[in-house]
Amino acid sequence: MLKKYDFFIKEFQKKIDKYFEENSEYIYCHQGCSACCETGEYPFSWIEMGYLMDAFTKLPDDVKFKIKQNIEKIKIQKENFKGERFEYRCPFLIDGLCSVYSNRGLTCRTHGLAYLRKNGTVNVPHCANNGLNYSKVFKDGIFSIEPIKENLNIDKILKNFDGEMGEIRPLIDWILK
Ligand code: SF4
Repeated sequence: MLKKYDFFIKEFQKKIDKYFEENSEYIYCHQGCSACCETGEYPFSWIEMGYLMDAFTKLPDDVKFKIKQNIEKIKIQKENFKGERFEYRCPFLIDGLCSVYSNRGLTCRTHGLAYLRKNGTVNVPHCANNGLNYSKVFKDGIFSIEPIKENLNIDKILKNFDGEMGEIRPLIDWILK
């Protein structure tokens, strides 16, 4: 199944690369910027989680140790959290870089892009409010260019995957289950 998913994700990545290219005028993503991984829920399907963990098992022991330490910290934060939507720093973010980059999730790959949701609203990256992606064309909640016309939410993307995707949960819930 992971082999099938590996083929699927590599094909999908070509499409994402094209979207980034088409929107390059508005994109400020660069290596070392980890804003999208600093706080979020990170929805992952079962198949994506298996793919990510495949990369995790191949990491050096010291990196695995740091990730496990991050997970322990998040576990405590989650236990003390009283609100409805728990957001956290991704535990796989090590020294400002994704430690499982080649096997990152769909949500990670679409971070930074503006696209049209099913209900007609535009999903605009958070960093648009911080002078980064699309900030030239996003003012006072109004998006002034044509967004990408494909809904890039993971449940929509995975409809095209010819295999079992499993349920979708926040990344940390797969780990702390
Ligand atoms: S898996 Fe990697 S790209 Fe995805 S949120 Fe975590 S650190 Fe960021």
